Amino acid sequence: MKSSFLAYIFCLCIFLSPESVFSQSKSSFRVIPLGVKGGIDESNLSSYALAVEGTEEYVCLDAGTLNFGIQKAIAAGIWKGDATEILKSKIKGYLISHGHLDHLSGLVTNSPDDSPKPIYAMAPCIDVLKEKYFSWKSWANFANEGEKPALGKYQYKVLEQATEIPLEQTTMNVKAFALSHSNPYQSTAFLIRHKEDYILYLGDTGADEIEKANNLRMLWQEVSPLIKSKKLKGIFIEVSFSNEQPDKSLFGHLTPRLLMNEMNVLNELTGEGALKGFPILITHMKPAGDREAVIKKQLNELNKLGLNLIFPQQAKLIKL
Ligand SMILES: [Zn+2]
Ligand SMILES: [Zn+2]
Repeated sequence: MKSSFLAYIFCLCIFLSPESVFSQSKSSFRVIPLGVKGGIDESNLSSYALAVEGTEEYVCLDAGTLNFGIQKAIAAGIWKGDATEILKSKIKGYLISHGHLDHLSGLVTNSPDDSPKPIYAMAPCIDVLKEKYFSWKSWANFANEGEKPALGKYQYKVLEQATEIPLEQTTMNVKAFALSHSNPYQSTAFLIRHKEDYILYLGDTGADEIEKANNLRMLWQEVSPLIKSKKLKGIFIEVSFSNEQPDKSLFGHLTPRLLMNEMNVLNELTGEGALKGFPILITHMKPAGDREAVIKKQLNELNKLGLNLIFPQQAKLIKL
């Protein structure tokens, strides 16, 4: 009787709080992928709602899909209530990596029902939003600058290279780094900080060797000390194509081989073993036939460093 009671209590503990039972390190961030793909499926395009664990103050890292991702998160029991109300109340701002539609179409189409909030991006991306999307020819100008009348719901916040600013209405901060996405077209990496904890999110990017650039090397130099000190909790990075994609048709994207080359550069900076078990979250696979399965297989085969490869799924909560 007594032992079965103890077994019952033990099971209850596991059920209620698996992390506190089995893991010493508490998670620092929670991520709800609202969309994960790099094309075709308009209900599932790059957007990651990120908050500090224990808070409901999210920012969206890119905004390809918003409403459908929130609906799925409600269906999955992550959020409760109405999708539009959640968008209005829980999403405190958008960080947009670059001006391609698969990273911002959700922001544009949801804008009539959204609440006032900032849009954080580097200058070239703000220019695209201003000139191409929040203009009266393609939509309505819901932002605070650009074609008149400017409705002023969104406030553009221009991010400068390697300069940290606070993310309003959250306890997070962001530092931006330019990426090369089919040189000279620019994309952005966001280094998010809460106290001593960090997350790195990269928008679309090519490899340094293909782009004839050193943007990624500079980024790896910036974050390698944070990996060594275990302050960086994970890196979101794209792999759009499989290894079969010819170099001339990469259009500023990565393949498993090119990602692992970059990880080797990072590994040289962090020192042997530091990347073992480190979370690398693979984003932006471009659907076509069985390409997504091929990418996963190739990444796993090339994973000599022992990275913890994570493949985010829409509305599947990630704790880092
Ligand atoms: Zn993209
Ligand atoms: Zn792109």
